[in-house]
Amino acid sequence: MTSIESKRVQYRKYLERAGVIDALSKALIKLYEEQNKPEDAIRFVRKFMCESCPDDAQYDVMKNDLEEAKTHISKLEQELERLRGQIKKSPEEYQELTTEGYKSLMDDEENVSSLLRKYLTPELLEEYMLVTTPAPVDAYLYDCAVSGFEHHDAPVGIFAADADSYDVFNKLFDPIIKDYHGQMDNENDVLQKDPDFGNVDEIENLDPERKYILSARIRLARNIEGLPFFPKLTEKQFIEVEEKVRSATETMDGELIGSYLTMADIDAETQAEMVKRHILFQRGDEKLTTAGCYRFWPTGRGVYHNPAETFLIWVNRQDHVHIMSMAQCGDLGDVYNRLVNGLTELEKTLAFARHPRYGNLTACPTNLGTTLRASVHIRLPLLSKDPDRLLALAEEQQLQVRGTDGGELSTVEDGVMDISNKRKLGFTEFELVKTLQDGVVTLINAEEELEISGQEG
Ligand code: ADP
Ligand code: MG
Repeated sequence: MTSIESKRVQYRKYLERAGVIDALSKALIKLYEEQNKPEDAIRFVRKFMCESCPDDAQYDVMKNDLEEAKTHISKLEQELERLRGQIKKSPEEYQELTTEGYKSLMDDEENVSSLLRKYLTPELLEEYMLVTTPAPVDAYLYDCAVSGFEHHDAPVGIFAADADSYDVFNKLFDPIIKDYHGQMDNENDVLQKDPDFGNVDEIENLDPERKYILSARIRLARNIEGLPFFPKLTEKQFIEVEEKVRSATETMDGELIGSYLTMADIDAETQAEMVKRHILFQRGDEKLTTAGCYRFWPTGRGVYHNPAETFLIWVNRQDHVHIMSMAQCGDLGDVYNRLVNGLTELEKTLAFARHPRYGNLTACPTNLGTTLRASVHIRLPLLSKDPDRLLALAEEQQLQVRGTDGGELSTVEDGVMDISNKRKLGFTEFELVKTLQDGVVTLINAEEELEISGQEG
């Protein structure tokens, strides 16, 4: 017997032993005996072999039940989140949570780099533990630091729960802000100059031939005066922010005219597609979740944008509003001009929280000051081959290099990088946009030099 024949015999024995041949034969006999031969013979055999399987009608019912159960679970989860949000912790509970959180942060010998860990001394903890910001917000230190207590690898570890947090817990926030932003002035100094958008005409198209820059974007973050920041917004206040922004956008003019979409009305598929086109946000990481950023999601979240998608306002992403201007080219001047117009329009109706020392207030201390991030998505194939030189040049120009999905340089897709101003506090808006302009011109020049030397060599 050849080896193939012997394998066949073995397989046949196996099928007999397992009852497969018997079951199949019975099914085929049953089909043979059937007077009215079914159209779908395979279905007939399958049904015969699987006596306890549900029929099509039963299957549809089960599928429906499952969908209903899923919807019900998600409603219950939202309800649970809402109820949790309404539970007020007693001062004793705050004290216990703060003590435990602090202990776990300080006991962790492996994650020692957070600014919260660096500046929250036992003395400050003692002093601030039971202090609250003014009613009705009543934010405790714990409300600001909960994320850093839980996520020891967070670089900063603290968010302001409201505008008053910056003053009430100032001996903690101030050194963190100075450390992060590199400001070492004495306590009475104003760190952030008055807003100054300068001469918009000095900002230009950085890549008229569209060789390197895929898109340009400038964003600002703002919070509406008198309302807490995301860690302490109530469900009603999330909606209040949305309503205020929606009505403020109604008077927009010219190229700023657009429409507002609330997140709950955008289906999941469209959301994903809009995120991919960089015009919508989604939930962020665990650190923001712990800080309370996604409570009552998707309530109060949404986006305003013009049809060209060059002017956008994100509502309740983190700060109450992120105002953005974009272009699918390197025309930074056009982007800047539109941003300034959009902000001016919004400020006619909305008053935003400002601080005499820190400028525009944001929940995250890293965004304080101008809150301005001007960026280009740019492809510099030759320069990218020498990351050390690229990063050194960027550093020299006070620029930050990231991946295009908001990640680190390692996530650079297809050679496209996100290059932006690194500093946000201590300079005027104009100075920062000019920094990006000058820096990007320098990088493009370096790329062009490499192109030329490549051709010569
Ligand atoms: P920010 O903190 O400025 O909002 P993120 O890194 O969180 O920046 O990015 C938010 C979204 O904006 C992402 O989809 C990102 O790809 C997009 N984005 C940032 N800069 C640009 C740019 N120059 N061109 C196009 N999209 C951009
Ligand atoms: Mg943004």
